[in-house]
Amino acid sequence: PIEFDRIGRSFGSVHALHEVSLTVAAGEIVALLGPSGSGKSTLLRICAGLDEPTTGDVRFDGTSQLGLPPHRRDVSMVFQHFALYPHKSALDNLTLALRHGRGLPKAAAVARARETLAMLGIAELAGRRPPQMSGGQRQRVAIGRALATRARVILLDEPMSGLDAQLRVELRVEIVGLLRSLGTTALFVTHDQAEAMAVGDRVAVLGEGRLQQIGTPDEIYDRPATRFVAAFVGSPP
Ligand code: ATP
Ligand code: MG
Repeated sequence: PIEFDRIGRSFGSVHALHEVSLTVAAGEIVALLGPSGSGKSTLLRICAGLDEPTTGDVRFDGTSQLGLPPHRRDVSMVFQHFALYPHKSALDNLTLALRHGRGLPKAAAVARARETLAMLGIAELAGRRPPQMSGGQRQRVAIGRALATRARVILLDEPMSGLDAQLRVELRVEIVGLLRSLGTTALFVTHDQAEAMAVGDRVAVLGEGRLQQIGTPDEIYDRPATRFVAAFVGSPP
C-alpha cells in the first residue's frame, strides 16, 4: 500500500496541505477530488518525489520514500498538461521514458513501447509528433508513457483536462480497464465529482488542504462528513 502519514506542505504562508493521512491499498484506484487550489497536485507531486512534504511521511509498503528521487520510486505520473516532448515521436516519447526512467535496453524499450501504443489503440501514431496529434491522441500517448513503465503506482493528475465530455468518458473507461488488468495502484486526480465517483474504488475529498472525507462513492454521496463535501458532491440536504 501507499501511506500518506500526516502530510503537511507549506509554501511560505500558504498551507497547501494540512495533516493529510490516507492509505491506498495495492491494486486500488483512489480518486482524489477537490476544487482548484485544494492541494491535489501537491499531494501527487509529493508521492512522485517531485516535491517533499514540510511535515509527515510517505511510505510504499512500509518504507519511507522521503528523500528518494522520482526515478528511485516505483511510480509513474501523467501530468495535467501532458508534458510530452513535442519534437519527439510518440514512439520516442515512450522509449525515452523506458530507457532513462527504467533503464531498459533499447530493443526491449522499443518493443514495450510498441506493445503499449497498440494496447491503447494508437499503434499507427508511433511516428507522429505531439503537435501533429489531437488532444485525445496526445493524452493517450501520455497515459501510454506512464503505463509502459509498469510502475506499481500510477499517479494521474487531471489526465483528461481539455478533452470533450464524450472523449473523457471513453478514455476513462479505457484507463480504468488498463489499470485493473495490470493490477496497478492508482491515484486519479479530478475536480469533476461524477468522474471521481465513476473511477474510484474510493473517493478522497480534499478541501482547503485538508482531507475532508474518504470513502466509497456511495458513502461520500449518501453520508457526506462535512458541509464542504455535501456542497461539493451535490448530495441532497
Ligand atoms: P488545480 O485543480 O487548480 O490544479 P490543485 O488542487 O492541484 O489545484 P495545488 O496545485 O496542489 O492545487 O495547489 C495547492 C495550493 O498550494 C495553492 O494555493 C497553490 O497556489 C499553492 N502552491 C502549489 N505549488 C506552489 C509553489 N510551488 N509555490 C507556492 N505555492 C504553491
Ligand atoms: Mg492541480
